[in-house]
Amino acid sequence: MNEIILKGIPAAPGIAIGPAYVFGHEDLSVERHPITEGQVPLEISRFEDALIQTRQEIIALQKKIAQEMGVEHGEVFDAHLLVLEDRMIIEEVISRVKKERVAVDFIFNEVLKHYASVFSRIEDEYLKERISDINDVGRRILRNLLGRKRTSFTDLDHQAVIVAHDLSPSDTASMHKNKVMAFVTDIGGKTSHTAIMAKSLEIPAVVGLESGTVQIKNGDFLVVDGSSGVVIVAPDAETLKKYQIQEEKIRGISQVLTTLKDLPAETKDGVRVTLSANIEFPEEVASVLQHGADGVGLYRTEYFYMNRKDLPSEDEQYEAYKQLADSFKERHVIIRTMDLGGDKFVSSYQFPKEMSPFMGWRAIRFCLARPDIFKMQLRAILRASTHGNLKIMFPMISGIDELRQARVLVEESKGELQRKGIPFNPEIEVGAMIEVPSAALTSDVIARESAFFSIGTNDLIQYALAVDRTNEKIAYLYEPTHPAVLKLIKGVIEAGHRAGISVGMCGEMSSEPEIALLLLGMGLDEFSMPSASILEIKNIIRSVTRERARQIAEEALGLTTGPEVDNFLKKKLRDILPDIYPVSTP
Ligand code: PEP
Ligand code: MG
Repeated sequence: MNEIILKGIPAAPGIAIGPAYVFGHEDLSVERHPITEGQVPLEISRFEDALIQTRQEIIALQKKIAQEMGVEHGEVFDAHLLVLEDRMIIEEVISRVKKERVAVDFIFNEVLKHYASVFSRIEDEYLKERISDINDVGRRILRNLLGRKRTSFTDLDHQAVIVAHDLSPSDTASMHKNKVMAFVTDIGGKTSHTAIMAKSLEIPAVVGLESGTVQIKNGDFLVVDGSSGVVIVAPDAETLKKYQIQEEKIRGISQVLTTLKDLPAETKDGVRVTLSANIEFPEEVASVLQHGADGVGLYRTEYFYMNRKDLPSEDEQYEAYKQLADSFKERHVIIRTMDLGGDKFVSSYQFPKEMSPFMGWRAIRFCLARPDIFKMQLRAILRASTHGNLKIMFPMISGIDELRQARVLVEESKGELQRKGIPFNPEIEVGAMIEVPSAALTSDVIARESAFFSIGTNDLIQYALAVDRTNEKIAYLYEPTHPAVLKLIKGVIEAGHRAGISVGMCGEMSSEPEIALLLLGMGLDEFSMPSASILEIKNIIRSVTRERARQIAEEALGLTTGPEVDNFLKKKLRDILPDIYPVSTP
């Protein structure tokens, strides 16, 4: 077989070389086998055994995930256990086996298909989500009835590259880093939350391959380059060698970079910036500290609300925020209040079906409409604020009015705690994410009432350029260095500085090496990114003077297209660090 080169969208850096494990293409077709009346009890007991076996499997899996990832990740399986106990499904199967005298696997499959089709016709996000629970559990039961082994990456018994049509952020969260060498998907964009999760887990990933699951077969040998978005099927000896050398080089560089861990993110002329981490789970603390972060610039708290049946209580949230405050002590932790909606939905709350969820009832819009849920989170953060340096940040602020309304709710939450005599830090900083163009364009006004800004470029780019961040078809238009985006960023930094506040960036863009150089020159104060990128960006900052970066930024801002800016910045970065960023990459 000749090698095939597939080009997708780079989602999480790193190189992986290994066998493909095509996920989700499993043939569980069953045939209709008539049975005699005497065989009916045997079929029913086969069904009962399969239910028991499935229950044991789910409990074991739940335990494993809870141990590895935290209890809340295991809770998704509570819904699966409930499906297993659904009397309606069980009784329908048993009565049809008795009545129709057909083997139970066929009947069960029919019942399952019927339920899935009934649920899929209901216009309700919550019930729609139940279809995937029913299908998931149904396939497990069917596998057990057919005596097949379960195929899932959660119990992969060898190292492999996962190849899938699509993976949800929670699929990705359940991957085990030691077994999953990388993953590639047909759909998705660079800043989709699945891609962001891969970076957190430090798993190389390529998304938006379009036909990966068609072109790649189970067991095919693959090279995945998560930095360039290239996937090579059946690489020839020469290609393999090239990537092995590249992989070794990356390993060597990352070893050298670890020596920077305890050094400040300071330019050659002594300008200090803040390098922080983006996290999705409190369990990431160790990795954040290990990569020498100055703090947490973005804690995406919405993962707290996902993969579970109920909303997290105030106490439960308090414990998690307290744990973060204790771990980071005087280092800051910016808690972004829940950004639900968009591509992140929760099972415990019924979100309406929307045509454009990223522009719909999302983030602060949801929170202002549900102050009861929002204030539960605010009180939890306030209570934990006495344990460390916590800050509050609101997502999706589109104008000063929204910020004011959100701040009123912070004040109300403080009042409620005060009346109960519960301590909190009354001076807690409250800042705004600038990720909607209208907020960027009125950032001078918003800055007067914010303690800090953090630019959310993942969203700002999609809204400024009208490019859905999760859609691979238009990913070529998603340009962080588009002059329109750069103008917005420049305006926000300047407005923040005129008002005397710190301006950070927690969008993925700040972790792109050549763009970090530009942002440094534009005067950005805080760079927040997945932990794994911190040392690379620290190295760039420590290799240049702010004055040189400023000149580079000035020249870049005079260019007229994104690709021109990219090429220009890449060349400048190569000049500064030629050993790490050589002219040609494989
Ligand atoms: C952003 O929009 O840049 C951001 C950091 O938030 P999220 O990716 O969670 O939308
Ligand atoms: Mg955002």
